[in-house]
Amino acid sequence: MNLDSIRPAIDAVAAACRVARAVQQDLQRVQKITKDDRSPVTVADFAVQAIVALALREATGEVLIVGEEHARVLRQPAHDAVRQAVVDAVRMVRPDVSSDTVLDAIDACDHDGTAHQYWTLDPVDGTKGFLRGQQYAIALGRITNGRVTLGAMGCPNLPTDRDRSFETPDPDGAIYAAAAGAGSWQWPSRPDGDLQPIRARIDAAASDTFRVCESVEAAHSKHTDTERVAEHLGVSVEYARLDSQCKYAVVARGQADAYLRMPTRKEYVEKIWDHAAGSLIATEAGAIVSDITGTPLDFAHGPRLEANRGIVCAAAGVHPMIIRAIAELGIAAAV
Ligand code: AMP
Ligand code: MG
Repeated sequence: MNLDSIRPAIDAVAAACRVARAVQQDLQRVQKITKDDRSPVTVADFAVQAIVALALREATGEVLIVGEEHARVLRQPAHDAVRQAVVDAVRMVRPDVSSDTVLDAIDACDHDGTAHQYWTLDPVDGTKGFLRGQQYAIALGRITNGRVTLGAMGCPNLPTDRDRSFETPDPDGAIYAAAAGAGSWQWPSRPDGDLQPIRARIDAAASDTFRVCESVEAAHSKHTDTERVAEHLGVSVEYARLDSQCKYAVVARGQADAYLRMPTRKEYVEKIWDHAAGSLIATEAGAIVSDITGTPLDFAHGPRLEANRGIVCAAAGVHPMIIRAIAELGIAAAV
């Protein structure tokens, strides 16, 4: 595995980033078109799913994709305006595409995750961030025999410059890619962006400030449990709250010690498209990714991570301490 093996995925994600960014910048107009019956994020979701599916098929001939969206609703006459908005969005990068080709491409992403090899796509991960004008990600991962082997992730609003705040959308954004056994790469999504290998921070245990990423949304990760873990570790904590798999990238590039996703309720099972790309990017950068009990993520159960609960992604030096703290606090048993 090397960077060439993931080039088609990177190109697909880069094209999709341009379109998602345009839709996000035009939220008000899109909202008007959709009359609020279909949220604007849906226009971006559909368009990105079509762009990635068409690009992968063209480059690799493959169509096995576990994606989040279905075009069924778009085929109904009542949703003409939404369909047109989606087709217009796809035409930003494929000017000659027909409406039928777009709809068929969206529907082609309906694989159930049972093949030994397939892609999984979250066209807009971090919907809430997208709607707030903040962070979101286009996340594409390849699963082979229950393991993630390739990951490409576009973070259209994430600054590569560490001095810039996550709160303000970056004019360029960042793209990440990883291939199993070969490493992780980061570059600004400008056409002239230099490719840079990234490594997770490995001296994290020496710092007495614990820098942790978590969801903005308390409904997606129990913030009070993250606080309990930090308190148990006896370290002062600095939070970076941001939406989407951008959190994995922030750990991978050494800007945070950990990304914690603490379960909020028993019934919730994590989806593969929320973790495939990000977890490989972090792992290949030197971080350790597991669930909150320390069990490695197991992508061999179809669309959901049935054998896992929550997420702990951390620099290798701190990962065992976090898992121990979670166990000593009895958090896994409590939720
Ligand atoms: P984030 O941006 O990290 O907050 O994560 C966004 C993702 O959270 C979405 O793609 C959803 O699939 C997922 N999600 C929805 N409900 C929950 C929940 N109760 N616990 C964890 N994740 C959730
Ligand atoms: Mg998602």
